[in-house]
Amino acid sequence: MKKILKQIQKAGLVGRGGAGFPTYLKWQFVKKAKGKTKYVVCNASEGETGLFKDIFIIEHYPEKVFEGLKIAMDFLGTKKAYFNFNETYYHRTKKTVTSLIEKYKKLGYEIKIYKEIPSYIGGEETALINAIEGKRVEPRIKPPYPANHGLFGKPTLVHNVETLFNVARVANNEFENRRFYCLYGEVKSPGVYHLPADWSIYKILKHTNNLPNFEFFVQIGGGASGVVYNQNQLKKHKVSGAGSIEIYKKSTPARKVLERWFDFYNLQSCGKCTPCREGTYQLYKLITENKQIPWKKIMEIVETLEQTSFCALGQSVAVPVKSYLKNVLKKKI
Ligand code: SF4
Repeated sequence: MKKILKQIQKAGLVGRGGAGFPTYLKWQFVKKAKGKTKYVVCNASEGETGLFKDIFIIEHYPEKVFEGLKIAMDFLGTKKAYFNFNETYYHRTKKTVTSLIEKYKKLGYEIKIYKEIPSYIGGEETALINAIEGKRVEPRIKPPYPANHGLFGKPTLVHNVETLFNVARVANNEFENRRFYCLYGEVKSPGVYHLPADWSIYKILKHTNNLPNFEFFVQIGGGASGVVYNQNQLKKHKVSGAGSIEIYKKSTPARKVLERWFDFYNLQSCGKCTPCREGTYQLYKLITENKQIPWKKIMEIVETLEQTSFCALGQSVAVPVKSYLKNVLKKKI
């Protein structure tokens, strides 16, 4: 079992849910945690707009995902796992997934399905653990981390679908440093592409024949929380976060861009903390109820959210807004 840990470390595997945390470290933490019962959770939440690689992987490589799940369980010496499905994904893949669960049941593994109403926060690992336990879907304070005190208070390893797919590839010596990219927006060929992880945004767009012939900007890593770059910055940057590239026409009105983000955050805020609950609502009101964009007020709220929100959802509002201002609008507020 030490062999797989070394293989994962050597391959440089990192989480593909967005955070990019080294996989071998996460495994070590859960392995070292005290407790007879341990859990592995496969997270197919994918609640952020613009992400659809997990469903692509489950539809095209379900055996690999389950193999990765089994390898993780074997490493931790447990037979217990949960598969968290975005509800819409479950309905699309039910037949395949049910038969794989049956296959592993015969081998003594107990893999339970949890069907989640799609939401951004439902994919955050502690909110997900709360949801499986039947509690309110909101993040927990950390520490303790799930590695020590996770599902039902037991050490828990939570991994994204793509990470478990990669674990199986590493174990079979098939791993190449690639990742799944979701391309969408004003592109000719939207879809999921499996390409080298170290390619620049420019190279990915060119290779997939998606480099626009009009002025544009991109949002990288997630359709709400992702960072925004102008078209001259694409050779310098790789794709971060959960692996999406969205193309916008440069002529898209700023109001439309902001309204889409603020609508998403307003709807997805779980309401646990005041800055995010009130701030995201006020941002949406400001952009929909004013003729001129009230930039000063917007930026005051964005800064407050960044500094005082309880979790990454509220903190991340600043990422698209600040990078859009700086890289596309070239405005200082
Ligand atoms: Fe919930 Fe938003 Fe606070 Fe996170 S930042 S806990 S999503 S209200």
